[in-house]
Amino acid sequence: MNPQATDAPRLDPRRAVPRTDAVLRDPRLREAAARLGEAPVKSAVRQAQERARQGAVPPGAVADTALALLPRTAGGLRAVLNATGVLLHTNLGRAPLSAAARQAVAEAAGPTDVELDLRTGVRARRGRTALAALRDRVPSAAAAHVVNNGAAALVLAATALAAGRDIVVSRGEMVEIGDGFRLPDLLVATGARLREVGTTNRTTPDDYAAALDDRTAFVLKVHPSNFRVTGFTRAADVTELAPLGVPVVVDIGSGLLAPHPLLPDEPDAETALRAGAALVTASGDKLLGGPQCGLLLGTRDIVRTLARHPLARALRVDKLTLAALEATLTGPATPTDEALTADPARLRQRAERLAHALAADGVDAHAVDSEATVGGGGAPGVTLPSAALSLPERYAAALRVGADPVVGRLTAGRCLLDLRTVPEPDDERLAAAVRSAPESAAGSASVSAAGSASASASASAGR
Ligand SMILES: *Cc1c(COP(=O)(O)O)cnc(C)c1O
Repeated sequence: MNPQATDAPRLDPRRAVPRTDAVLRDPRLREAAARLGEAPVKSAVRQAQERARQGAVPPGAVADTALALLPRTAGGLRAVLNATGVLLHTNLGRAPLSAAARQAVAEAAGPTDVELDLRTGVRARRGRTALAALRDRVPSAAAAHVVNNGAAALVLAATALAAGRDIVVSRGEMVEIGDGFRLPDLLVATGARLREVGTTNRTTPDDYAAALDDRTAFVLKVHPSNFRVTGFTRAADVTELAPLGVPVVVDIGSGLLAPHPLLPDEPDAETALRAGAALVTASGDKLLGGPQCGLLLGTRDIVRTLARHPLARALRVDKLTLAALEATLTGPATPTDEALTADPARLRQRAERLAHALAADGVDAHAVDSEATVGGGGAPGVTLPSAALSLPERYAAALRVGADPVVGRLTAGRCLLDLRTVPEPDDERLAAAVRSAPESAAGSASVSAAGSASASASASAGR
């Protein structure tokens, strides 16, 4: 039975959109509120009302629309808008996939020819088209292999090439990637020995040369991707290490395949291989802008050794990853690249347009200049000029728990929504999320706000 038939909602006299309290009486929404909490349910209702006011759904379908906006479980993965200004935010899953990659994942989800040649009916090499696409983009790589992530690429290289032997590495490159993940620990766990050379700030080619002997498996170069050492420093580059006579393995981290004009200090696979590296390892979900995976690019012999090692099977990627990787490599610019190259003047225009529209609805919003960063996934120290929507601080929490969650950042007592990490077509989505930010955020907590701000905030909350 339709609960609204016995408990007719009071209608907004102007637009026939049912009021929030009436919609919230729907038993399905009451159940959802008990499960997920009041805030996301109210936010979903507000967003559904907004759609009804705009004529996108019939006024009678507000409760159904709100239900459809809610996650099925409180713990599930939720889609969020990344307005942090951090392009590769680890907590938000790093690189967002391109439309082409998402489409490819959807198509690959059913049975696919991942290991079958449809013309001959004979078993074929897994991921052959993705690997070919990778080699096309990195002409100096004679061969390529893909594993689960950057760490797995290092594990495979260390295990297959250096178990029981030495990896020679600079003391300045014994890095912690994040969340307690320390590269030296990972390498030692494979059974390889680490031979540390040089000092924290300075390591010369002679330091490496002096450490080489018949136990040396390879020299490892690691890109310090989340910090910078400045001042009295010296690091040996691949060109200086390649002539030493042992393979040079380069962990570039970020997954740039070729030099990027905006990131001159960020290492790339093609340059490292051309300089003489035998193997390059990288992540797929950093600056490459693809799915989580680990790329291994190098000489035919070394890549064959890795791909045939028993551990390779334990680290192999699934068909969804291969599909997304290939589409990323062959498709148009990724969202990560678009965020990286976005024009600051255009970002400012968008911020002003959004601020104007929201202020007209009574939200204390204005446009501000901002600085975005690439993130832990690469380019430490690089800031990208950006623009943001500035809102009262209390919006930060409200937007996170909304029906369509938005993650911003707090700066100087304001909640900033940085537009460099928000694709332009999502501007309306962002505005709708701000408008329907739960009452607790938009209406209360006005003690510290200026009078006009609190008045306008509660005006917007009353919509
Ligand atoms: C990110 C990173 C890794 C780890 O890669 P994951 O894909 O996160 O496993 C290893 N080395 C460097 C230099 C990195 O930047």
